[in-house]
Amino acid sequence: MKSTQLQTDLWRQAWFLELSSNSKLLFLYLISNYHTNVLSLSKYSIRELEFELNLTSDIIFKCLDELKEQVVVSFNLERTVVWIWVVNALKNSLGYKSKLTMKNVKGILADENIPDNIRKAVLEAYSNFLPEVDFVNTIPLSKREIIVIRDGFKCCYCSRPFDSIKEIHIDHIIPKSRGGSDTYENLVSSCSRCNLEKLDLMPDDIEKRPTNRFYSKSDAIKDLKKPDVFKKYRALFMKN
Ligand SMILES: [Zn+2]
Repeated sequence: MKSTQLQTDLWRQAWFLELSSNSKLLFLYLISNYHTNVLSLSKYSIRELEFELNLTSDIIFKCLDELKEQVVVSFNLERTVVWIWVVNALKNSLGYKSKLTMKNVKGILADENIPDNIRKAVLEAYSNFLPEVDFVNTIPLSKREIIVIRDGFKCCYCSRPFDSIKEIHIDHIIPKSRGGSDTYENLVSSCSRCNLEKLDLMPDDIEKRPTNRFYSKSDAIKDLKKPDVFKKYRALFMKN
């Protein structure tokens, strides 16, 4: 038997009281069932949920939507299974910042099958602890993020650092229209202004030719382990 801490003030919280009774049941199930763990992040078979809760799958999905609306649950449906994460389960338990808890979290996140959207949400929620516990390997990095990490979080043409992700454009050094490829060597980060100015010019037509270099996901992870690099990554790509 595993033991988890339950919030005893749950029944005094407005969002909980406003839920339909089926959603209340589902939520209580999610934080107390046999599969659950310190993160309350687990994979459930839909048939099992139907059986244990005595609800139809349609009702279960409706409840999940209701819980998602309250931002208490994040889920990902894959045919016959559903991944569900109870967003604040860990934060509401005592001593959640302890080394042991973080070790458990790391163990849970080691499962490669966790869907990217949930993994990213979990990592965002706990990014404050990331440097200490070395979660960096488990961050799902997009190609765009990898390029921005390589290019030092700034525009390769004017060197202006990015303040928000909205400013980030990925520019083809040799334009796509002229046969440029989508490889890391041909892609650089650019601000919107420089990206517009460049249009379809070839590198030789441009005064400031950007330096590009081969780079891969493992290089990005290596760089992210440097605290100053991680700090910039977190500020730009993670919400917390
Ligand atoms: Zn620029």
